[in-house]
Amino acid sequence: GASVHQIQSGQVIVDLCSVVKELVENSLDAGATSIDVRFKNQGLDVIEVQDNGDGISPHNYETLALKHHTSKLSTYSDLTTLQTFGFRGEALSSLCALSKFSVVTCMAPDAPKGTRLDFATSGKLSGMSVVAAQKGTTVFVENLFNNLPVRRRELERNIKREWGKVVGVLGQYACIQTGIKFSVSQQAGKGKKTTLFSTKGNRSTRENIVNVFGAKTLTALIALDLNLELETTSGPSQRWSTQDDGDRKDIRIVGHISRPASGEGRQTPDRQMFFVNARPCVLPQVSKAFNEVYKAYNGSQSPFIFCNIELDTHLYDVNVSPDKRTILLHDQNRMLESLKESLTALFESQDY
Ligand code: ADP
Ligand code: MG
Repeated sequence: GASVHQIQSGQVIVDLCSVVKELVENSLDAGATSIDVRFKNQGLDVIEVQDNGDGISPHNYETLALKHHTSKLSTYSDLTTLQTFGFRGEALSSLCALSKFSVVTCMAPDAPKGTRLDFATSGKLSGMSVVAAQKGTTVFVENLFNNLPVRRRELERNIKREWGKVVGVLGQYACIQTGIKFSVSQQAGKGKKTTLFSTKGNRSTRENIVNVFGAKTLTALIALDLNLELETTSGPSQRWSTQDDGDRKDIRIVGHISRPASGEGRQTPDRQMFFVNARPCVLPQVSKAFNEVYKAYNGSQSPFIFCNIELDTHLYDVNVSPDKRTILLHDQNRMLESLKESLTALFESQDY
């Protein structure tokens, strides 16, 4: 039967998508400028994430995959101004419990050799050997959920939907992260490896979007750059506003959206992506606000939305769900009203 460790591990790693997300975020935290994600049989057999980041220090080998081991959080106050994606030290520990887990890592910039680390289900280091490697870390996750038959069957049954989610989320990281080369490939059975998309270390999200979604998408998009301002002075109507008076904190909405009412019936892919300070997340209310305003200008067609909300870390909470995808925006209703006003103003002015 499943151990307590295996059951608890289901909290961070709920599905294929959360595996991919945790590994990519670890690579980003390690300062990688190149991230290569490779799947065998859509991740059912192997998920492999290779980066050119800092690598793992030998004194972390033993503890690497133990529960609550993290090299990232040094003081409690860090929690309020979190700069790294990870801080709980749960992902690798969970992956050991839920798959066959191993790592190849190397810290030296030009050494052709690295260390391969194998881990037991408990998270304990079970093997170590010298292998060929470049600077950075490659993580291997094999046979995900194999030791939890019910979860495994569920994964296999829903693999089409899961795979769609995985590709979607990887596209989000690839688009939002500028200056990073992302590559995603998949190999079915013994067939040929196919690359789904790759970004080139571009300087703009526009170029990333071209790499991921194709150049056609872009011709139908307009740039978004809205400033919503929060009055912090306790005036008679303390609210989010777009006027410029007093002392307040800014919320900036940056990204791209389908051109409204072009009259040409341009087709754009029905994709909607939301980020808070470059962290991909699920924001149903923000999405609803965008779609509502857009539909007033473009009938029933739903837009391509690429929207990064830049705001002070004190204005939201990421620790709502273990996967940190759900984000609680403080004072969300005011923000939504202000967003709708600004978006309407942009579409009315046609100043794009
Ligand atoms: P967290 O990210 O919350 O610290 P994880 O379980 O995801 O916890 O990772 C545990 C530790 O393993 C990290 O704190 C980091 O030190 C190390 N690590 C994981 N992935 C990588 C990577 N790709 N490159 C370098 N170090 C890594
Ligand atoms: Mg992590």
